[in-house]
Parts: sequence; structure tokens; C-alpha cells
Amino acid sequence: MPIHEKNLIEKEDLLEKEKAVVDGVDVSGRWNTFIRERLLSDYHEDFVEEVKSLPGGRTVTNCWQCGTCTSGCCLHTDYGLREFNPRYFIYLAQIGNVDELKKYGDVIWRCISCNKCVERCPKGVKVEEVVHNIDEVLRRRGVTEDTPGSRWDRTYLDNIMATGVLDELGLTLKYVRAEKPEDFTRGFMARMAVKIIRNGNIRTGPIRRRTRGWKKMKKVAEDILERDGYASAK
Ligand code: SF4
Ligand code: SF4
Repeated sequence: MPIHEKNLIEKEDLLEKEKAVVDGVDVSGRWNTFIRERLLSDYHEDFVEEVKSLPGGRTVTNCWQCGTCTSGCCLHTDYGLREFNPRYFIYLAQIGNVDELKKYGDVIWRCISCNKCVERCPKGVKVEEVVHNIDEVLRRRGVTEDTPGSRWDRTYLDNIMATGVLDELGLTLKYVRAEKPEDFTRGFMARMAVKIIRNGNIRTGPIRRRTRGWKKMKKVAEDILERDGYASAK
């Protein structure tokens, strides 16, 4: 098993007289470094199954860890959020290392669903959906708490369930207004929203349309949401 948790490596504190110092530089090294004992019970084998059971999650086990998704991820590269590493999240989900995933609880939800990773993945992994599922499972298990990401998902769901048509401007404004001003996300999402509106990728017209026959379809959508354990807009 590779060592991927630095906190498992015990540092050795050398006595002053044991140190080898050459020209003022400590070159004594760390020859007696110990790796703390770790039991297989640290791993939750059923974690990956839960990720798989949610929509789009089935491909999580296809990943062969090439890293193509991370190297092209706009959060990781363009936005410089180096901790956001979909390849690593998938690896941790595969081995069920929930403790390590928990450390990224405030990072995983930040995926902006650009789907670049999905386009680039050579193994057909639905990375975007898998990453969201990992975040969802962590929350369902009580490992992480409600995040701006999960609040966004609920606002999105409420918005689309109302008429069957996404009111993009209304959704963006409601979400940005609801978030706490001190939250990083508000600034982040607001900046994104301005960019999206400027690029003409969002409908800003005042007329709200409705999907024809939405009443019937809504019932089907609600049943599916309930089956998959999502909070519906009932
Ligand atoms: S690009 Fe696909 S196969 Fe490669 S690490 Fe990402 S998810 Fe895994
Ligand atoms: S969908 Fe998410 S994980 Fe994939 S490239 Fe975009 S931000 Fe990164």
C-alpha cells in the first residue's frame, strides 16, 4: 500500500549530540523514520459502492489514475486551487479512505461542472459526476457538513422543479443573495456569474417558460429523486 498520508510518518527527534552538522548545515537525515501502524479497518470498502449507486457514479472504478483529469481541470490549473485533485479524490474513494477524503471536505464540492475532465478522460470516467457523488456520499454519511455546493444543488433543484425550465438568472441571483457575504464562494460564484453573463452563456430575459405537461413529468422526477435519496422540491 503506498504511503500517501504524511501524518503517518513519525518524525524522529535527534538529540543534539546525534546530529551531523557540516558547515552549519544539518545533514543527519532521518534514518530511523517509522511509519505508524495502520489497520485495514481504516478503509470503508462500501464507500465506492455508494458512489457507484448514485447517478453517473458507475464509472468510478474505471479510473486507472493517469491524472489527465487533474492536469486539465480548470479549478486546479486556471483557478490555482491545487488541492482540488479529482484523480486523488477518485483514488481515495476507490480504496475507501474516508478519513483522508474528509480533509478535502471543503474542497471537493468546488467542482464547477465544466466537464473538461469528462471530455479528456481516456477511460470514460464521468469524473464530474463521480466527484459530486463523492461529495454527496461524504455528506450523507455525516463526514462533512452542508456546503455552499450542496446548497447550490438544492437551489438548482428547487428552481428547475418549479416549472421544468431552468431560470438561470433567477437561480444565480437567489444563490448569490442567500450565501453569507464572508464566504469565499459568494465572491467566486459572483465573479463566475459576471463572466457567464458577459459571454452570453446565460438567459437573462424576464419571461419564464414552463415545460409542457410538467405536472405529470414532475411526479416522475420526484419519484426518481426520492429513489436516489436526494432532497426533492416536493
Ligand atoms: S483522466 Fe480518467 S482515468 Fe485518468 S485519472 Fe482522471 S478519471 Fe482516472
Ligand atoms: S468538471 Fe469539475 S473536476 Fe472536471 S474539470 Fe471541471 S471543475 Fe475540474
